[in-house]
Amino acid sequence: MGAGESGVGAAILGKKKGFDVFVSDKGTITDHYKEVLRNFEIEWEEQMHTEDKILNADVVMKSPGIPDKAALVQKLLDARISVVSEIEFASEFTSAKIVGITGSNGKTTTTMLTHYVLKNGGLDINVAGNIGDSFAKQIAENDTSHYVLELSSFQLDGIKSFAPHIAVLTNITPDHLDRYEYKFENYITSKFRITMNQTASDYFIYDGDDEVITKYIKKNPIRSRLLPFSLKEKLENGAYLEGGNIKITIDNNKFIMPTKDLALKGNHNIKNAMAAATVSHLLKIRKTTIRECLENFHGVEHRLENVLKINNVQYVNDSKATNVNAAFYALDAMKSATIWIVGGVDKGNDYSELYPLVNEKVKAIICLGVDNSKIINAFGNCVDNIVETQSMKEAVNIAYKIAERNENVLLSPACASFDLFENYEERGRQFKEAVREL
Ligand code: ADP
Repeated sequence: MGAGESGVGAAILGKKKGFDVFVSDKGTITDHYKEVLRNFEIEWEEQMHTEDKILNADVVMKSPGIPDKAALVQKLLDARISVVSEIEFASEFTSAKIVGITGSNGKTTTTMLTHYVLKNGGLDINVAGNIGDSFAKQIAENDTSHYVLELSSFQLDGIKSFAPHIAVLTNITPDHLDRYEYKFENYITSKFRITMNQTASDYFIYDGDDEVITKYIKKNPIRSRLLPFSLKEKLENGAYLEGGNIKITIDNNKFIMPTKDLALKGNHNIKNAMAAATVSHLLKIRKTTIRECLENFHGVEHRLENVLKINNVQYVNDSKATNVNAAFYALDAMKSATIWIVGGVDKGNDYSELYPLVNEKVKAIICLGVDNSKIINAFGNCVDNIVETQSMKEAVNIAYKIAERNENVLLSPACASFDLFENYEERGRQFKEAVREL
């Protein structure tokens, strides 16, 4: 069910493994995927679900976008038909070692960084999950001995036996609560499914400073070996910060690297680097390779991406910051006064945790959204200069007028993009275009 990247990938793999495959999408299927399905001679339908046919299945792969609450999913579950995610379906057909990465923020950055180090370290490895070609398609067409997978909570909700050898949990802050009956604990439980099938010979790397995570672990023991990372505490096993260095110890084997050499800036990226380096250290990548890779990896588009410096003002594209926690780390990473472009579709944001940072760093706020009232109410008392705009071009032009030498213009919206843009990528691209036209 669902003919996006994961659905079509699962169909290709299923076909290759001799299943009788049928793809059903309630919306329209893009021309690209229709063409792929035709080429593989896979039967499909769009703008409907033929229930008789679907209820006749042995196994249903459901796209992460379809909620469990959907009527047809409920019918499948009532009929005791196995409903799984693409990750679960695909993992049965590979014997690869898997690094699975989840968290509320930092998944893509940590996944890409980890893949970069492991690939340069000589491993036969692909990256998949929410990134690029689906896991299933890669297993069908180009299986490798290792994978790094970016895993959303929705993918994890649909696993039964999937077990990564190394699991990484970057952090947990409230997100997507609409899919979890507005209960934070349900979302936490969903994230921890990444450890559910691990054994004592597997590893769990996580943010030891994140109280949501540490509290959960105290109550719910994890079977795999725990390797936390921390910016605050010295750890016997795991990664920590001391004297400007990242230090990682695993069974007395040490890795050390100065944080000033990291290409990615900001405290959140020190954590992401710690996670990636711990994975690489576990998989026996040479220490010099790990260091060189962390010095050279400049990040992923739309994540604290330095766009241009104009008149000594740095323009930063952090369009991927679709929640408050991501914007927190972006503001935290700014080293001088900042003109902050913020707004969009508010997912029930509580802005209060941003007040200290905004007081300290934000010189002006440029609201970019259809309804900016919540932002104006939240920050009206901290920032004198708040402007409302409804186009990226206008927002960037105003920022250009306000910004002075050595300051930053930061797009870090803390909101989803769907009011004015197709998605966060489009928002980020428009920002970069407007900056380049200045
Ligand atoms: P995800 O894939 O989980 O959405 P990304 O790597 O795409 O994560 O980053 C999303 C946003 O979160 C960006 O704005 C980025 O600057 C911020 N971010 C990245 N890593 C972290 C982290 N460890 N903690 C908090 N925020 C982060």
